[in-house]
Amino acid sequence: MKLHEYQSKKLFEKYDVPIPRGRISNNASEVKQIAEELGGRVVIKSQVLVGGRGKAGGIKLARDPAEAKQFATDILGMEIKGLPVRKILVDEAVGIDREIYLAIVNDRASRSPIVMASAAGGVDIEEVAHLSPEKIIKIAINPLIGLQDFQARDIAIGIDLPKEHWKNFIKILHGLYRVFWESDATLAEINPLVLSKDRRLLALDAKMIIDDNALFRHPDFMEMRDVDVEAPAEIEARKYGLSYIKLDGHIGCMVNGAGLAMATMDIIQQSGGLPANFLDIGGGAGAEKVAAALRIILSDPNVRVILINIFGGITRCDEVARGILAAFNEVEVKIPVVVRLVGTNAEEGRQLLAGSAIHTATSLVQAARSAVILAEGGSL
Ligand code: GDP
Ligand code: MN
Repeated sequence: MKLHEYQSKKLFEKYDVPIPRGRISNNASEVKQIAEELGGRVVIKSQVLVGGRGKAGGIKLARDPAEAKQFATDILGMEIKGLPVRKILVDEAVGIDREIYLAIVNDRASRSPIVMASAAGGVDIEEVAHLSPEKIIKIAINPLIGLQDFQARDIAIGIDLPKEHWKNFIKILHGLYRVFWESDATLAEINPLVLSKDRRLLALDAKMIIDDNALFRHPDFMEMRDVDVEAPAEIEARKYGLSYIKLDGHIGCMVNGAGLAMATMDIIQQSGGLPANFLDIGGGAGAEKVAAALRIILSDPNVRVILINIFGGITRCDEVARGILAAFNEVEVKIPVVVRLVGTNAEEGRQLLAGSAIHTATSLVQAARSAVILAEGGSL
């Protein structure tokens, strides 16, 4: 889950990472008033969960409150990369001397959080990473001991920071690491961290991504969730306790259990097909859940066939079969469906489905091959 800039900045503040003075608003007249309070010169910043807002016209420097109101009016009506702007952050304008990139991110290669930093911060860090990766320095942090002062100093040296700012910089980096760690974040990024004309270090921009699997520990973050950015199918899935991830293939999958869902995707691929999604319906498979899963799979126009793979353990296959039949009464399904049932009462389950248009299979390989044939327009 991504946090908005203003949400990340609020967190930063608690961890002693200095930010410009500012306030959030959704109303241009109020923006004018905020600009007056902040001394006139302000930056109007669209709050949308995509990068490159500056280049897309979503960040504007206003010279006075009247201009702030005008920019706010313009930006509040905008869409940036398909996302509507509903909120604006009004920050005091800061004179910039240098723009630094500073981030903590989980790094799979070193299996630890790493600090990434560059003297070439600002809006084009992706380009820097691509064209001159040597300008980005990385230091791995041992998660058991945390960030060490000497590491923070190494970073300060690496980005050529004048010595008078080291003490502050080290404090900021410790704050950034703590907010990353305590929030269960996968990314905490400041781009740019600026050295201002009046010799302050300030986080002008802030971005945090929280690990979705840790959200249960952070009810306060859950409330901050902005559903504008999420695919409607994924929001719907969460409502029913389903784990759904859309992919690019043509074979829709509905499976109980995450491991089985992955195995199903592998076998589809091995059989020459491509899965359209990952979908774990979890334990139990009542009609309501199956119907929700069907609707979600069918909302993807690429899907040409549905493969349902159920292992009956505590959940009995005949119950699941009844759930499937009830769901099919509720949701109109015009594409072929292959069901593989195995485990407790599998035979009873298959018999229940026998009268319907649903194809049944006993092995996963057989089910996957059938699905591939049907997806290619063939018949069984
Ligand atoms: P992003 O484009 O979504 O990354 O948005 P940022 O908040 O990083 O802003 C983009 C750029 O706008 C920054 O790199 C700065 O160059 C500029 N900018 C943002 N805030 C200020 C400010 O207070 N003063 C000045 N002079 N420039 C700013
Ligand atoms: Mn930025």
